[in-house]
Amino acid sequence: MNMQIPAIIACKLTRLALRLMGRGGTALPGKVALRICPNLLGYLAKNVKTVVITGTNGKTTSARIVEQAFIQTGKSYFANKSGANLITGITAEFAAHSTIFGRPKCEYAVIECDEAATKAIVRQLRPSLVLVTNIFRDQLDRYGEVAHTLENIRIGLSAAPEATLCLNADCSLTASLAAELPNRTVFFGVDVPIYKNRVSEVSDAPYCIRCKSEYEYDYVTYAHLGGYRCPKCGYSRPKPRVSVTRILSQTADSSRIEITADGASHTADISLPGGFNIYNAVGAFTALTEFGFSASEALSALGGFECAFGRMEKFDFGLSPIRMILVKNPAGCNQVLNFLTNLDGDAVFVICLNDNYADGTDISWIWDVNFEVLLGMGESLKKVLVSGIRADDMALRLIYAGIPDSMLEVVYDYDELIERMASSETPVFVMPTYTAMLDLRRRLSEKFGVSNFWE
Ligand SMILES: [Zn+2]
Repeated sequence: MNMQIPAIIACKLTRLALRLMGRGGTALPGKVALRICPNLLGYLAKNVKTVVITGTNGKTTSARIVEQAFIQTGKSYFANKSGANLITGITAEFAAHSTIFGRPKCEYAVIECDEAATKAIVRQLRPSLVLVTNIFRDQLDRYGEVAHTLENIRIGLSAAPEATLCLNADCSLTASLAAELPNRTVFFGVDVPIYKNRVSEVSDAPYCIRCKSEYEYDYVTYAHLGGYRCPKCGYSRPKPRVSVTRILSQTADSSRIEITADGASHTADISLPGGFNIYNAVGAFTALTEFGFSASEALSALGGFECAFGRMEKFDFGLSPIRMILVKNPAGCNQVLNFLTNLDGDAVFVICLNDNYADGTDISWIWDVNFEVLLGMGESLKKVLVSGIRADDMALRLIYAGIPDSMLEVVYDYDELIERMASSETPVFVMPTYTAMLDLRRRLSEKFGVSNFWE
């Protein structure tokens, strides 16, 4: 018997029931559907033109920029939420956007896909285009080594030879996918250094993926990204078709860059700060123009979208602006520090470290983050407040980094922490891990009516 229709109905009913009970955002509807029909996603995705965004960092932001172009041009599309990027969530999203007979209600889908789940998902989705942002070491206890992540993505992509691949040329791991797959491939990258003062980091990919010799770099943008080449076997950064050719300006809220594609240069305003978002922007620009959007449509998406969940939000309830940015792994955290310590002006930093499952239960990654760079801020750094379940471990890390006692304070109580943030006369930058961010946001919404914008 054809099980697709019962599976779709079960999925829709479960979703509706959960919604009536006031409980959204669980994996249950997708689980129910896949139990009844394990290949439901392939069936539902058959007639939808899909863009997949995967990689370790920047998926959500890149997906939101891509989505913005679909919104601005009035296309019939749907997208998954960042919390629903495994096969259950994606299946439920496709079921919600199809009739009970499995006919799609939208022409397009923009799908963020967990990099560890790419293997199972891409095979069924058969996307038209896949954007791979980068590959970094993530929370060790969830994903294992980068080689494993790379292999997962490669196997996933090998099931979709018709998809155009947009690959980060500056990531030696990501770029290596091109030689192993028959797909049409377009590289993007950043041709120039991004930061004046850069955090020196432990590279996640110091050795050649082909012959294990140490890479040489013409320049590094951040972490292992940049102009690498292997002196022994000649593997090197491919010349990107779409490049960031100049960094024109960077502020706490935005960047202006020059993007050059096929010989034509465009000035792009990105409504997000930081070098990592410059990569997200050029990756999304490449995906959009390859998917058929005009350069001007893609540029207007870069400047016109709202901050994605957890990425550099700004709050105005205090005496000074308060900005919050999620940190989840050493590479991401180093980028945030790169960006924040390169800003002009005084700052108070707040670091909230939790070790719940969603944060990664192993917090040893904080020892791979170069907090020493904070010292380079000199007089501009006014205070570092530390909070969260593992506040004491975080404080210890900062003491080892050389942050003086007088600058450092542990505040266990979130209400007290929020008071301190609100009464600061210096701009505040909050760096929470995932569940700490959810906690802070909930308290802010109770206290100041900040809306639950992820709903
Ligand atoms: Zn080599």
